[in-house]
Amino acid sequence: MNEEKSLNFIEEIVENDLKSGKYSSIINRFPPEPNGYLHIGHSKAICLNFGLAQKYGGSTNLRFDDTNPVTEDTEYVESIKEDIRWLGFQWSNEFYASDYFDQLFEYAVVLIKKGLAYVDDLSSEEIATLKGTPTEPGKDSPYRNRSIDENLALFNDMKLGKYKDGEKVLRARIDMTHTNMLMRDPIIYRIKHAHHHRTGDKWCIYPMYDFAHGQSDSIEKITHSICTLEFIPHRELYDWLIEKLEIFPSHQYEFARLNMTHTVMSKRKLLQLVNEGHVSGWDDPRMPTISGFRRKGFTPLSIRNFCERIGVAKRENLIDLSLLEFCLREDLNNSAKRAMAVLDPVKLIITNYEDGKVEELKSENGPDETLGHRNIPFCKELWIEKEDFMEEPAKKWFRLAPGAMVRLKSAYIVKCDSFIKNENGDIKEIHCTYFPESKSGQDTSGIQVKGTIHWVSAKHAASAEIRLYDRLFLSENPAAEEGDFKDHINPHSLAIIEKAYIEPSLLKATIDDRYQFLRKGYFCLDKDSSMDKLIFNRTVTLKDTWSKEASK
Ligand code: ATP
Ligand code: MG
Repeated sequence: MNEEKSLNFIEEIVENDLKSGKYSSIINRFPPEPNGYLHIGHSKAICLNFGLAQKYGGSTNLRFDDTNPVTEDTEYVESIKEDIRWLGFQWSNEFYASDYFDQLFEYAVVLIKKGLAYVDDLSSEEIATLKGTPTEPGKDSPYRNRSIDENLALFNDMKLGKYKDGEKVLRARIDMTHTNMLMRDPIIYRIKHAHHHRTGDKWCIYPMYDFAHGQSDSIEKITHSICTLEFIPHRELYDWLIEKLEIFPSHQYEFARLNMTHTVMSKRKLLQLVNEGHVSGWDDPRMPTISGFRRKGFTPLSIRNFCERIGVAKRENLIDLSLLEFCLREDLNNSAKRAMAVLDPVKLIITNYEDGKVEELKSENGPDETLGHRNIPFCKELWIEKEDFMEEPAKKWFRLAPGAMVRLKSAYIVKCDSFIKNENGDIKEIHCTYFPESKSGQDTSGIQVKGTIHWVSAKHAASAEIRLYDRLFLSENPAAEEGDFKDHINPHSLAIIEKAYIEPSLLKATIDDRYQFLRKGYFCLDKDSSMDKLIFNRTVTLKDTWSKEASK
């Protein structure tokens, strides 16, 4: 992606603000709520924010938006940091909205003193009833005109824990007839007797999102506060609070969130999948989480390239999962090491190859010479893929069949002379002869074959479990379907091959290695793997690049 790209609308805003001298440099933030693991949607916001700061020499804060004590946890905080680092970004500061609780309380007191906030005793149902509808104005609460002193005393008592959850709230005093429903005296503080993962039991009142977010932006002197489109109606309240509090004027800008096919993206739904055991955890390779993609073998570059390619716009759409896979293949095709593995093995015996002889054959590690070579042991008995043999070959069948010839990748040309079946009628052994002068790289045989197949030496191969993944949902957009989104889970999203044979060099694989198993797809070692039991995940299937590879 080297072509000159036009600016997206946020880059235009930033460039104008820098050019006009409104700001000398930009500060933005990525503000996750630590109530779940990050998903691919978050990576769009991460790439956008960190990308802008990189491009324009600004800085990006990581701010945990931890104002809801009930759903948040330090496990999530740690996973979020790990995922951002893995994506290749480093924040300038690590902040927590909960660090601002004292300041936010003071801001609320300022509003009360200005007659712009009041304590309301109505229940949440009563507040909802008086709120009106988008077409009907709301009505004032009977508590709206409490004196400033009474409000100050009551708010302080709320803080001291004199009331139960829901007994009182603090509301901004704006306008119950406002056309924007969010401006009809929004709740800014509520009582919640709950333990907070950072502040412990210090607080029993917690600021609402709208009161915490913009004020946190302002405290950090955020110049461009970027969020997703559903926050457009909140912008008016964001601006109102900043204006009335007379604090640093951060500004909010909205872009379209990423939606992707065959998955769900809301953390609430992802949590259900985890808690109800539909997946093995947040990092299950079928999950759309960053940790799931990482475990499946995705590279940070592929995700960054994907975010770049989908761009930043103001209209929501549904991006096809295959675009992400395209970006992945593009990266892995260049960077993944080549290896051979036979997933569905059948024995091939070279009858004219000397018993006990072993040759070490050279094979390229990458798509070309740049990643060097490795040696692969070759001997009389090999494993090949069952599907590479056909007893009665179809037309244009270029692989093995009785009487047919094929090249064994990086080795010799063999000709199938006969085969043996077991009592069930399945092929048990294929017997071939090889042509000693046809060795790859020094072929003087003059024999032309159209097909090349992969293999592993039966004597030297290791065995491994292979996990093949498919999309987690059958429906393109499960969240938009009627009824429960979980009714659309793909029952065949995981297939396990218990015993595949892999070439011995794969015994040295580490979690960070990415492989192309020739003709079979891209694979990586799974974290459940041990020396006693190797496990590989299929990262993604191959695009049909084999025709090119095979000619080598
Ligand atoms: P969820 O609804 O899944 O809980 P959220 O938006 O509440 O998601 P946050 O942790 O609050 O999750 O999100 C942190 C940041 O990531 C926010 O700025 C949010 O706008 C952005 N974000 C979340 N989901 C997406 C998405 N699908 N596409 C782009 N940005 C997203
Ligand atoms: Mg949120």
